[in-house]
Amino acid sequence: MSRPARTYLRRCREALKKVNPIRSVKGTRDLLPAETALWQRVEEEARRVFVAYNFREIRTPVLEPTVLFARSVGADTDIVTKEMYTFTDRDNESLTLRPEATASVVRAYLEHGLYNEGGIHKLYYMGPMFRRERPQKGRYRQFYQIGAEVLGSYHPSIDAEFLEMLVLFLERVGVRDFALLLNSVGCPKCRAEYVKALRRALERVKVDLCADCQRRAATNPLRVLDCKVEADQPIIEKLPHILEHLCPECQQHFDRVTGELKQRGVAYQITPRLVRGLDYYTRTTFEITSSVLGAQNALLGGGRYDGLAEMLGGPPTPGFGVAIGQDRLMLAVEQAAQLKGEDQLAAYVAWMGEQALPLAAQLAQDLRRQGISAELGYEPIKLKKSLSVANKLRARFAVIIGEGELASGRCQVKDMNTGQQEEVEPARIAQYLQEKLGKPSV
Ligand SMILES: [Zn+2]
Ligand SMILES: [Zn+2]
Repeated sequence: MSRPARTYLRRCREALKKVNPIRSVKGTRDLLPAETALWQRVEEEARRVFVAYNFREIRTPVLEPTVLFARSVGADTDIVTKEMYTFTDRDNESLTLRPEATASVVRAYLEHGLYNEGGIHKLYYMGPMFRRERPQKGRYRQFYQIGAEVLGSYHPSIDAEFLEMLVLFLERVGVRDFALLLNSVGCPKCRAEYVKALRRALERVKVDLCADCQRRAATNPLRVLDCKVEADQPIIEKLPHILEHLCPECQQHFDRVTGELKQRGVAYQITPRLVRGLDYYTRTTFEITSSVLGAQNALLGGGRYDGLAEMLGGPPTPGFGVAIGQDRLMLAVEQAAQLKGEDQLAAYVAWMGEQALPLAAQLAQDLRRQGISAELGYEPIKLKKSLSVANKLRARFAVIIGEGELASGRCQVKDMNTGQQEEVEPARIAQYLQEKLGKPSV
């Protein structure tokens, strides 16, 4: 740093009182450039796959009326009772930072009367969600989801096509070691019958279950199936399965889904205990787990929610959706190490002597206008130092402009990978770099 710069900074510091540094909120984190490059690659792949299946993006607000989640997610779920960031706004309206986005997408679909257009709507979204959970590896209070929803069809082909799309997406981002777990939770009619049977069975065995399960047996018996306590597992395994209680219509739907998955070459494991945490699911539910994250950590999950639109005051509208936990997906993508998130700097423009600056600045501007990333030194430095700066920035090429180059009207372009150097006219440099960057370096 130059002396005037040091003096200037010291004066700035003296004008301020010493204060403690401010840290990010617990359970939240900053994603720094070393990570965001890979995040962007994953998001790009998601967009590409969604668009290939004719999905379009929807962006809904992060803030929603609290009642939206109380009605959709369920007023007695952990999410709504314990985990939401809810506050009273200045005009006394209760607002919530969205804990998930399906309810928001359905709200927007109803609010804008998209159902009036008829047909099927395929929508996708990406963004932060908020839940005040206990922070742990791969789980944050501000976490990110990539999600997609199909609204307007009861057809089992929708379920199968959607799952095929998710498998393609995981393959595209290099995650191969995963399992698709599949179940049906039936419709309100057959599920009610099942819950009765489950309650009866629990009456006989609940004394042997953990305290949580004993409470759930009374309040929400389906939740018992989610219990992770080791000692409970043999007992839970013997409880009645929902798949044995499906009504003929739900059974037919499930058979069509599994039949089509086979036709499409999508492998799945039927998992009768998979009932998912949210109240609005009907019929097909699914999760994809990856051994990379440990069996209990789902990468993504979702299912059919044919009653949700009506719960939110709209006309009957069937739906099917997924939410992908991006924070956990990134751990799996990093492990798979197939995608590279590196955004390499294309060119470092090095100039020697004040008289070289106008040409260097012009050249840097030309490159940038043509979408070639370029860094321009801010001060004249010696050639050797310039090349070491280019190295440090991991620039692919260094463009060198010194007295000799000014006199000859040609610049030196050095390939930082191979060390080869060529003379190129300034007007041709952008084209020259574009050609070189198009081909992989040897
Ligand atoms: Zn049913
Ligand atoms: Zn238990």
